[in-house]
Amino acid sequence: MPRTRTIRLAGLGLLLVVGCDRRPDSESPTARWDVVETLREEAAAERHASDGGGSAWIEGGALGADGPPAAGRPGRWTLTYEAGPLGVAEGGWIFLQAPPFWSWSTPQVLDLERPGFTEVSTEAEGVVLEPATLDHTLLGIEVRGRALREGERVRMVYGAGPAGAVGDRYAETGRFWIGVDGDGDGVRGLVDSLLAIRIEAGPAARLQLTLPSTARPGDTVRLTLAALDAVGNTGTEIDAEIELSGLGAGLEGPTAVRLDPTAGGRATCELSVVGEGIFAVAASGPDGLWGQSNPLVATADGRRILWADLHGHSGLTDGTGSPADYFTYARDVAALDVVALTDHDHWGMEPLALHPHLWQQIVDETARVHKPGRFVTLLGYEWTSWIHGHRHVLYFDDRGEIFDSTDPEFDSPLELWAALEGRSALTFAHHSAGGPIATNWEIPPDPTFEPVTEISSVHGSSEALDSPRLIYSPVPGNFVRDILDRGFQLGLIGSGDGHDGHPGLAHLAGVNGGLAAILSEELTRGGVLEAMKARRVYATNGPRIVLRAALCGRPMGSELEVGADGRCTLQPEGMVNELDVLAVAPELLQSIEIIRSGQISEAIPCEDSRVCRASRSLEALRPGEYVYLRVLQTDGGAAWSSPFFIR
Ligand SMILES: [Zn+2]
Ligand SMILES: [Zn+2]
Repeated sequence: MPRTRTIRLAGLGLLLVVGCDRRPDSESPTARWDVVETLREEAAAERHASDGGGSAWIEGGALGADGPPAAGRPGRWTLTYEAGPLGVAEGGWIFLQAPPFWSWSTPQVLDLERPGFTEVSTEAEGVVLEPATLDHTLLGIEVRGRALREGERVRMVYGAGPAGAVGDRYAETGRFWIGVDGDGDGVRGLVDSLLAIRIEAGPAARLQLTLPSTARPGDTVRLTLAALDAVGNTGTEIDAEIELSGLGAGLEGPTAVRLDPTAGGRATCELSVVGEGIFAVAASGPDGLWGQSNPLVATADGRRILWADLHGHSGLTDGTGSPADYFTYARDVAALDVVALTDHDHWGMEPLALHPHLWQQIVDETARVHKPGRFVTLLGYEWTSWIHGHRHVLYFDDRGEIFDSTDPEFDSPLELWAALEGRSALTFAHHSAGGPIATNWEIPPDPTFEPVTEISSVHGSSEALDSPRLIYSPVPGNFVRDILDRGFQLGLIGSGDGHDGHPGLAHLAGVNGGLAAILSEELTRGGVLEAMKARRVYATNGPRIVLRAALCGRPMGSELEVGADGRCTLQPEGMVNELDVLAVAPELLQSIEIIRSGQISEAIPCEDSRVCRASRSLEALRPGEYVYLRVLQTDGGAAWSSPFFIR
């Protein structure tokens, strides 16, 4: 979620654009027209030829003068701005913009002792610089006395005091920006120099172990291991032998693995599944380092579970790190099967919709790391509508464009779906019950493009008011359960919407996260698309809970026909509306709740076990009803099946 906006506004001459726009018949209950109008004004602002002129660099390059600071630790960066041919007029401005997200120190000039103290100086005689903090990561420097001429420089030492400047809590390759309002009219442009910075991970604090959730006897499976710091950053300086336990009967493999810094503290090893059973692997290293994998359920039958995080952001908009960092983490740390980087169309320092070369980076990187059968990537972006609510758009091929939610041509979901007509694409409403903006459900989800909805992410759960880890700023009546009550047929998934560069593990640094479990034998874009269209998916708020569910012998997400007697017309001989459930969780389970048409019809206790199994006969099903399952761990972790829809 964007925390703040730090772009200096034009404020003049743009009311025409805004005034011409028609208001739609319906909108989000928490629509933000003020934001849309500001974004449109900024996009249309006329820039003077001197705005954004000149060049800039960081002393010591990406590492900074004193070497790269670790995440959340103070550092000092010395930046130099050199005026271009048009200079900076008297009354013009130079801006130092630290990354606007993730708790960077506010650059300030008032208190040497406090973090973020910034020393500003020039050798240009007669030029007086007047620096002041303008926003929480923005320092403005007004040029007084006379104009700054071509070749003249301004030096900025960010973190010049004893407390330095505290950088990102997330390890990243990031950047600073220098802005210039060359004529002093209140509109700035960004200087076209890449001021790259690097933040290192802190010390190793946990071992992250991931196994696939499903396998068949005879399979070889991959165990993925990573030593992460306290907030989940990869790239720790570990150099140690890690002992593995839990192997033996049924699951065989090495008993130790070496982690070293040349591989970023990451490794994989192959294990053989020799029998049926439920397995987990634990690992221990020096200084009490420890971790335990998710459960692996090895059986001869049952659909394969693919784990996906289909929603997240990089430093190209309001997240952290590069697209390459994002995909590396998804594959080599979180061991995801499927991932999408869905940066915002129109948000952040340089909106993707207005900077096609940035979008091209995402297109290229998504295609480069896509390996069907091993690691599936989907091209996507977030249609960040502040009128109807956010939706991310996923393409199931290598082509894809941005339909900008601030463009009056594409600013309603109906226009977005019309633009996607004929394309292999899906859209996903998210944080739909509240958060930064709730979804406008008055426009029903398009059945072709929106078969499923995201109910859990870092923002919390949009399932229902009685949900664990509820979304902030909830809007009563706007929950996913409310819209199922209205008769919309939607499958349920989770995805992180992480901004910390940790796809698949967004819950490590915060409280809540989101994952999508996709029931598909085929690890391909086609296999994922087919399963989502069939709603053969479920959601979790982070943990890799195995959830099996069948009603009348059909998988979750199915439509089931019932006769006048209230019984499924298609069901195995001798059974009446039988619901079979199995949950296998990484933590202790509290209960499995059956939610039938808006009500919890039964809470099946799980007696603090990690495995919970039940069969129930659902009485007298009526057309129009829906049934889904909510699995609760004792620690607040949860999974939600897609509903069964009765017709
Ligand atoms: Zn969003
Ligand atoms: Zn998002």
